[in-house]
Amino acid sequence: MPATILVVEDEPAIQSLIEVNLRRAGHVVQLAADAEAARRLVLDALPDLVLLDWMLPGMSGVDFARLLRSEARTRSLPIIMLTARAEERDKIEALDLGADDYVTKPFSPRELVARIKAVLRRHAPQATDDAIELGGLRLDPATHRITAGSTEVNLGPTEFRLLHFLMTHPERVHARSQLLDQVWGDHVFVEERTVDVHIRRLRAALEASGHDALIQTVRGSGYRFSTT
Ligand code: CA
Repeated sequence: MPATILVVEDEPAIQSLIEVNLRRAGHVVQLAADAEAARRLVLDALPDLVLLDWMLPGMSGVDFARLLRSEARTRSLPIIMLTARAEERDKIEALDLGADDYVTKPFSPRELVARIKAVLRRHAPQATDDAIELGGLRLDPATHRITAGSTEVNLGPTEFRLLHFLMTHPERVHARSQLLDQVWGDHVFVEERTVDVHIRRLRAALEASGHDALIQTVRGSGYRFSTT
């Protein structure tokens, strides 16, 4: 699945340089020229990562990052700060307030794309195209294929995203509400029992190869992908 990157940058030339390169790297790009516009986009739907310029008209990038970190819904949203200020103390301030990385202007587009990939790998692996192998299952987001040994497993798009999320966050219990946020989108209003329906379909698809036991129900809590 392509990752959605929200780019908050007020200089049009830099904005389009970033946009072109991120699209070329396969990302979906949202653009905002100030924190106010960015906030509206974030309220509408959470991106997978925010690329945030430090110096913005109105609210600064640093204050916007602080705001995102202060609210439960956006607390763990990956943030990369973008800045012309190369001083050590600025870098420390950015990392202190919870930015996941820091890129100094002028930057090479290739380096920027690589840094974004690294942050996504750490914080939103379900938003990368990395193939993942676990418990005898192999899921490849790039080709949209799942194999169990030499057998291909066919899944619908929702079950695919669900399995991708579970496999990239294994051995942890996910409440139905968390799965809805992560797999369906955090502003999509569907009932929690919808999750159960798709878990059932996922298990049914994995049953033939005996991999359905990887999807565990944790009574009263939610679901877990576990190889033990
Ligand atoms: Ca700026």
